[in-house]
Amino acid sequence: MAVNINGRLVAKDTCQALRPRIAALPRPPGIAVVRVGEDPASKVYVGRKTQRAERLGFHHKEIHLDVETSQVELEAVIDAVNADDLIDGILVQLPLPDHLDSTAILDRIAPEKDVDGFHPVNAGLLSQGRPRFVPCTPCGVMKLLERSGVSIEGKHAVVIGRSNIVGRPMAMLLEKANATVTLAHSRTRNLPDLLAQADIVVAAVGRPHFVKGEWVRKGSVVIDVGINRLDDGSLVGDVDTDAASKNAGWITPVPGGVGPMTIAMLMENTVRAAEFRTA
Ligand code: NDP
Repeated sequence: MAVNINGRLVAKDTCQALRPRIAALPRPPGIAVVRVGEDPASKVYVGRKTQRAERLGFHHKEIHLDVETSQVELEAVIDAVNADDLIDGILVQLPLPDHLDSTAILDRIAPEKDVDGFHPVNAGLLSQGRPRFVPCTPCGVMKLLERSGVSIEGKHAVVIGRSNIVGRPMAMLLEKANATVTLAHSRTRNLPDLLAQADIVVAAVGRPHFVKGEWVRKGSVVIDVGINRLDDGSLVGDVDTDAASKNAGWITPVPGGVGPMTIAMLMENTVRAAEFRTA
């Protein structure tokens, strides 16, 4: 049976380790979280992020805008938080309502306040192997691997999913850590054959139980990024965890695996932003 990688524990330790860094700052780190509309999942995620920021003593601003907010109005909000000296990190909760141009909004965030790591400047720095702000979810996965004592160098990692938020930066981080990386997506052929050669699998697809237990190589490390809500209200990942646990050496649960790390890394990125900005 696989060893369970406890994301809640690592996230708690990660946040605890931030406390002396926060205490050493001339003022509390500041984070602005922007939410537009009434998407229920976004409300939950924003609530968790602001709660964690509050517990760490951050200055935080939760900006909740009406679903009818226009592009120009949202851009003005971004400009205002960009200009606010007490704000070090800005997060726009995705997805935005369809009438808004998310890419233009994310591009408008000042790169030095882009604690989500989605701005093209930060994505470009990561692609050149000199990361500044790295998207929180893949960054959290790296920390989970590190804390679990999993060695990455020379290993074959298969990342399933190539979004700018998870899969693509994940592949870059694993490659920077000297893994040999295969980045799989919806047009990839023979995925089970690829997984049969994988030492590390990261699933970021958005489909419940997509990765079958029999695809998982004996002893491999399986990281499940997926968060999928089933009709009965339960949350499951992209991996058939029970079946995969029989073959995997290590596995992350859902919930309690990657999710808590995403929030912890957002806190860490914000502290780093505050350190840069107050130095
Ligand atoms: P996207 O929908 O942006 O990307 C999904 C990716 O999966 C795409 O690259 C797509 O390929 C690929 N894909 C779809 N079908 C297949 C298939 N049959 N075989 C192989 N690849 C496939 O999702 P995100 O990256 O934003 O999120 C992925 C999952 O992670 C979701 O469940 C999301 O909720 C979760 N998530 C969890 C977070 C956490 O904190 N734990 C944070 C962020 C996301 P293609 O590019 O070809 O379309």
